[in-house]
Order: sequence, then structure tokens, then C-alpha cells
Amino acid sequence: MPLTPPPLKDDCFALPAGTHWTPVDEALSELRARLSPVTGVESVPLSAALDRILAEDIHANRANPPQPNSAVDGYGLCHADTGAGPQSLPLMAGRSAAGQPLGHPLERGHAVRILTGATLPEGVDTVILQEDVSTDGQAIAFHGPLKKGANTRRAGEDVEAGACILPAGRRLGPADLALLAATNVSNIPVRQRLRVAVVSTGDELAEPGDSARPDQIYDANRPLLLSMIRRFGFDPIDMGRAPDARDALRGFLDEAAQSADMILTSGGASAGDEDHMSALLNESGSMTLWRMAIKPGRPLALGVWNGAPVFGLPGNPVAAMVCTLIFARPAMGVLAGAGWRQPLRLTVPAAFSKAKKPGRREYLRARLRDGRAEVFVSEGSGRISGLSWAEGLVELPDGACEITEGTPVTYLPYVGFDL
Ligand code: AMP
Ligand code: MG
Repeated sequence: MPLTPPPLKDDCFALPAGTHWTPVDEALSELRARLSPVTGVESVPLSAALDRILAEDIHANRANPPQPNSAVDGYGLCHADTGAGPQSLPLMAGRSAAGQPLGHPLERGHAVRILTGATLPEGVDTVILQEDVSTDGQAIAFHGPLKKGANTRRAGEDVEAGACILPAGRRLGPADLALLAATNVSNIPVRQRLRVAVVSTGDELAEPGDSARPDQIYDANRPLLLSMIRRFGFDPIDMGRAPDARDALRGFLDEAAQSADMILTSGGASAGDEDHMSALLNESGSMTLWRMAIKPGRPLALGVWNGAPVFGLPGNPVAAMVCTLIFARPAMGVLAGAGWRQPLRLTVPAAFSKAKKPGRREYLRARLRDGRAEVFVSEGSGRISGLSWAEGLVELPDGACEITEGTPVTYLPYVGFDL
């Protein structure tokens, strides 16, 4: 008897009955609840602290500014020596410049030349801007009344000594390094960098630059994932390509767990014949196949291999990238000691139309042009060119929605993921 294909069912495009498709938010709160930091602590000099994650709250070793000083170039005086209307004060000899303080107190009833950043001589509580003064070098004349304390900076007005300046978990940026420097914090307790091993799986994969059989494709996920991990501020470890063979893949995972704190694999995560990732994680007893209600994506094979958490990402580069941004990145943040971080979400008008069915959250490759979100021509999850075309993602809610030009949509720029 010839085989006949099965009839198409009415619900053939519906989500499988009885299967629980985990909504994105539920998956995220599960992940958040189950993970904790795994990295140790080390001390690094300021020069090596960029992008590192603080292991402790940091306190200022010194006030900023350490002493009261002048905010402008002008003349320092005692407010009590001035009044309303035309004023004049004799100039005392000498001046106070940044790094070259006057070294003795103000002579009462005088003014003293003072430059920006210079320590206020004892007795000076107010500075008048040089542009508001006329002088012959012997005296200054100006109009009162002056505001007491004008153009001066109080000691500690920015930061008091001992104050908490940065919280544990903070990823240090350039401005943070300035704050640490200003308050004389030069040895910084930071988390060791999270090491993330990356393995590509699939017999079809070839290495860019090598010759490839016609049936092969070049491995796009490894460069994608390794460079994303670097941008997130973690240490990527390239484990290469594993074939679709269970024992070989087992060896890759063993080695990855040895050299990394966490493992990202791509491909072989579903439940098909060649889906050895999920089979191995199943064998190890730690596997949960999370069927995320997300497009592109699903399913995600989560497990623990020799103590290292494993994220088994889908092989499709688009799904691999989206799942990394949405699920793996916040998870890595927790493992790394940075805590759970939400991506930047902007609400912008759509430059496209789309009718979305309910049931899963959708991420579209998108970019902002003239303040509106435009999306890539195709939603095909194999379209790597669209990932590169895009500068972010549009996030469509789990429920149904009808979008026309101008409808407010949520845009997640790549930069908001540190990419
Ligand atoms: P899989 O999840 O292994 O079933 O793979 C899904 C799709 O993604 C297939 O078309 C694979 O050929 C493709 N794919 C898997 N891994 C990669 C990779 N590293 N680079 C590019 N495409 C891949
Ligand atoms: Mg595969």
C-alpha cells in the first residue's frame, strides 16, 4: 500500500495541545530565581577596572573636593567685608591657583586673586567672577550685594569621605573610573570575569576560510556568540564545532565545563534525531526543555553539565541571537555577580504594519529611522543578513496585536544590551 500523507489538521499551526509553552516573563522570573553568582573575587588596579563588576560596595577614601575651592577665575573675599551698591576692596599680594595655594589667610578687608580649582585661603568665603570686576592691579571695584558662598565649592559637596559611591554588582564604566580616581580608590575588588564557553553543533558546519562541501554551511553562531559575550563584558572561550555525534559532543561538554563557568551551545537543542544536546542533558538528569512562547526561538535546552550551567540555544542564528539577548544575557549577569539587568526599552512609533496572533512574544529585527521603528523585510529565522541590517529588536507582546504605521511599539536597541 502506498503511503499517504496525513491529513492537514485544522489546528496544524496552533501550539501543540497539552504542551505548556512558557511565557517569556515566566521563564525570566524562573531563571532569575534559580541562579546566583558563581564568580570569585579579585583586586585590580584602576587601570584594569573598566567593564569589571564590583564585588563589594565601594566607599570614598577621600572627599571630593577635599578642600573648599574656587569654581571660577576671579577674586576671593570675605562676604562680611562687602555690602550693597558700588564696592571696592584693596588687593592683597599673591594669588591662589590650582595646586599653588596662597599658603596664608586673607587679610581682612582685602580681596585676593584666585583661579579655578584653587583652594580658598582661610577667610575667603565668596568669590567674585573676574568679568564682574574692574581692577588696576591694586584694588578691585564691583557692584554689591554678593551672594555669600558664590562661585565656591564646598569640601565634600560632591562626595563626602567614607560615603558609598558605587554598589556591589555595578559594571564599571568610564565615569565610574573617574569617580573612583577622584576619591582615591585605586585597588578595586571585582568579580573574576565570567568565563563562557561556546560550542557549535552540527555536521553541516564548516569553518569560515576553509573549503566547504556544497551541503555545508559556515559556522555563523560561534563568531556571533563569542563576540556578544565579549561585548557583555565576559570572557568568551571558543570550544569549536562539535559533530552530531553523542560521544564526541559529550567530550566537548566535559572540556567546556572544565574551562568555563557557563556553557552556551547552539544547535541540536530540540527533540529530533540529531538533537544530541538535549539528549545528553537529558542523560545527565539535569535537562529541562523549556518551550518558550517566543518567536524566533524555542525550545531552549537548559541543564547543568559537571557543575556548569548550560544554555542549549537553537541553531538558527536569528533565534540563537534573540534567545541569547533575552534569556542568556540576564542569566549571565546573575552568574557574573552583576545581578539581573533589564534591557533598555524605548517606546517609538512603528514604521510598519503587522497583525500578530496571540500565544507567544515576538521579536522582529528592527532599526530606528527618523524616530520610527522599521523592521526587516523577512521574518525568516535563517536570514542572518537581517540580524546585521538591524540595530535592535521590536518586541511584540504575548497577546494579539494589530500594528499600523504610527502605533507605539517597544524597541530594544542592540546598544541597550551592550552590543
Ligand atoms: P538545529 O537547531 O541544530 O536543528 O539547527 C537549526 C538550523 O540552524 C539549521 O538550519 C542549521 O543548519 C542552522 N545552524 C545550526 N548551527 C548553526 C551555526 N553554528 N551557524 C549557522 N547556522 C547554524
Ligand atoms: Mg543541528
